[in-house]
Amino acid sequence: MVRSRKAVDNEEEASAPFFEWQDAYPWQRAALQARLRQRASWPQALLIQGAAGIGKRVLALNAARALLCEKEETERAQGEACGVCESCHYVAMGQHPDLMLIEPLERDPSGEVKVLDAIPVDAIRRLIDFMQVTSHRQRAKVAVIVPAERMNAAAANALLKTLEEPPSGSALMLVAQQWQRLPATVLSRCQRWTAPYPSTEEALAFLRDEGVDGAEQLLAQTGGAPLAARERFDPEQQALRQAWQKALAQPHRLSPYALAQAWAGGSRDDNKQRLARFIEVMIGWTVDLARIHGGGAARYHAECQEMLRPLAAAVAPSALFHYHHSLLRQRRWLNHPLQPRLVVEALLIEYRTLFAHRQKQ
Ligand SMILES: [Zn+2]
Repeated sequence: MVRSRKAVDNEEEASAPFFEWQDAYPWQRAALQARLRQRASWPQALLIQGAAGIGKRVLALNAARALLCEKEETERAQGEACGVCESCHYVAMGQHPDLMLIEPLERDPSGEVKVLDAIPVDAIRRLIDFMQVTSHRQRAKVAVIVPAERMNAAAANALLKTLEEPPSGSALMLVAQQWQRLPATVLSRCQRWTAPYPSTEEALAFLRDEGVDGAEQLLAQTGGAPLAARERFDPEQQALRQAWQKALAQPHRLSPYALAQAWAGGSRDDNKQRLARFIEVMIGWTVDLARIHGGGAARYHAECQEMLRPLAAAVAPSALFHYHHSLLRQRRWLNHPLQPRLVVEALLIEYRTLFAHRQKQ
């Protein structure tokens, strides 16, 4: 798989893919097979959309592997990749010459993988060059962009021409969580495929196989997304989350400045990740407040049902709604926060005002 010319030129890089191969997850198999049955009419531009942490990228790469597999289709189970031919082997090694994976990742000279803020136009230009060249192994040319919404404006623009006139035999897959952020011109040229969401049973079975303790609670915290839950399985993360919940449960005592100070520290990257997690906790928290206010049960912070109840009774639904939208807005801007600590502080100040009315009584 050609990842980026810069990386490939960099001698050892060529043999070091950014991923470990992962076969399609159990909850994806049926949907993948159904898609592959209509392989003759496989779209040249496909947008795979869905929530975070359910395996969209794995789904795309497995679809790509099936399109490139060189075993006779009649000899394959349900049209999926055989997993043993040369082509399948190359895909799993990250070395297939007809597959390009574009991600906002870069390896620095020491070999460390760095996450870039955006997918730059250069990467898309490489993709266009790649798509123009005839297939090496005569099956197809497949390019996967993950996450597509991280393309900057110039990159999305550059992609348009390829979307308008895709070279024959090519398949482009855009993988996106926040697909609404893609320009309408890109969206209108893609066929949509919503990635399958696992049932609770499927997700729990997966987490148990992975040896994750407290799977049910973690799954609830991530809205049922098993890969996100597995990632969350980290005692330090859990402790941090509990500290946040405790602070949020007492808005009148909460000191936004002190909390944001305690939260800050570490490198800028580190802060950005923590900001993302903080915003996620807050989004789940506000959804739960709204659910309980409406007579339902907490979903993301199920273990805090009792802590949430008095808060839900105190909050005004319209203020909560506005606050929830502030959080969603912040999440959209996550890739270019000016000062993560200030963002946290501002969000906490705003959170406290949700209950200000109550405080005066
Ligand atoms: Zn194969």
